[in-house]
Parts: sequence; structure tokens; C-alpha cells
Amino acid sequence: MPESSDTQTHHDQHGRYPEATTVEDFQRNLAAVQARIDTACRRSNRDPAAVRLLPVSKTKPEASLRLAYAAGCRVLGENKVQEAFRKWEAMQDLDDLHWSVIGHLQTNKAKLVARFASEFQALDSLRLAEALDRRLQIEGRSLDVFVQVNTSGEPSKYGLAPEDVPAFVQALPAFTALRVRGLMTLALFSSEAERVRQCFVLLRTLRDQLRQSAPANIGLDELSMGMSGDFEIAIEEGATVVRVGQAIFGARPMPDSHYWPGEPSTVVSQP
Ligand SMILES: *Cc1c(COP(=O)(O)O)cnc(C)c1O
Repeated sequence: MPESSDTQTHHDQHGRYPEATTVEDFQRNLAAVQARIDTACRRSNRDPAAVRLLPVSKTKPEASLRLAYAAGCRVLGENKVQEAFRKWEAMQDLDDLHWSVIGHLQTNKAKLVARFASEFQALDSLRLAEALDRRLQIEGRSLDVFVQVNTSGEPSKYGLAPEDVPAFVQALPAFTALRVRGLMTLALFSSEAERVRQCFVLLRTLRDQLRQSAPANIGLDELSMGMSGDFEIAIEEGATVVRVGQAIFGARPMPDSHYWPGEPSTVVSQP
């Protein structure tokens, strides 16, 4: 057995990360997360440069985002488009700050994403692809997108069922303003590391299969998977983007069930 199979989740730390309130806090937290990334890469013989850290600022106030920017963050992830749009509008003075929308999007809000986001990680329907493409054409913009896949099989999670992804990807070249980069998933939210790992393995396997048949202009290099509680496991299974909020910004005031409704809270063992 490779030693990486012993890697545990950190889901028991959810809600325990202290709030970052100074630039130094952010610098320290970013360095600590990067050190965890480096260690996971070493363990799995990967180059740390092949893993992008996406700091996730959802629910945090503008002042925190500005501190993160001062500490060096140039892309921030947000899961609700209206909140992201508000923050983008308020922070126009930081013109090299880019926005990644990582949460489910209703088709009628595609217009907002098309205006300001540089990346969208939760593409999960052709209707949405069509709406985004149409609005992007109007704006004269393009958008990096990830196809969200439901790898845990939980009905509460968004994303396409794995078996629906191949046909979906075949249809994407029609939307010329969308630059398809890869796949994204949220793993099972569990302290059972092996079950979490299986979600990441599924995403990587799917990506590898798709690469054999994908249309030429569809990029499938990226795997966005892993968050504060499980990103080391995701890296061991091939993540190229990890989306990390609490370990950088501090705990969110609400339990995770607030952001992913229907999530059973009992799967997380509290010591
Ligand atoms: C909030 C969020 C994350 C980050 O979760 P943390 O526990 O704060 O690291 C990652 N991905 C998505 C889709 C999210 O909504």
C-alpha cells in the first residue's frame, strides 16, 4: 500500500480555523496551506507548480478580501454569484483581482457571471452553457469553465452524473465563448478518508476516459477537487486546482450544511 493511502481528512477542524484579521494572518495561513500542498505533492511524486491554490472568500466581508489581496491573492473563489458580483463591484480599484464562481448557477443569473467572472467551475447543464455563451458573446468576453460532476452520488450535490458527462462534453464546442478547462467536484463530506478518496479517483478516471474521445478544442487537463478538509487526498489523486476557504480566511459563521443543504452533519466525527 502506498503511504498516501493513510492520509486522513481534516473535516473535524471545520469551524475551528481562527479568523484571519491581518495581512500577516493571511500570509501565515497561505504559507501553511502551501506547505500542506507541497507535502502532499512530495508524497505523490507531483510537482507543486502543477497544483493551483484557489482561495475561497465566500461569506467573508470586503475588508477580509482586501487583506487577502494584500497578502498576494489575485484570484478569489465565491460560490454565490450575487455576492461575488457585489464584491467585484466594490473592489473595482483592484484591477488585477480576478473572480472564479465555484457554486451552482441558475440560468437566469448567467448574465451576471458573463459580466465579471474569469472562471466558472460549476457548469452542469446545456441550458446554462447556452445562456452563458450568449451573454458572453454580447459582452465580447470569454470564460474558463469546468464541468461539475457529482462524484458522491448524493442527491443534495449539484453536478452531472458521471455517465452523462461524455455526451455533455461532446456538445460543448458549439459554445465558442466557453473555454473548457476540465472537471470539478465536491467529494463526499465525510471523515472516512477512503470514501472521500473514491470521489476524487472517480473524477480523475472520468477525465482520463474523456481525454480519449474529447473534441479537439475541449481542454480536459484540469481537475478542481479538494477543499480545506480534504485537499491533500485530492492532490494525491491528481487535483490541479484546490479550492480552499476556511484554512485561509478562517471558519465561516454557519455550519457547512448551510452552504450544501441536505448534507448530513453526522458523518463528521467530532473528537
Ligand atoms: C466553500 C467552498 C469551498 C471551500 O471550502 P472550505 O471548507 O472553506 O475550504 C470549496 N468548494 C466549493 C464549491 C465551496 O463552495
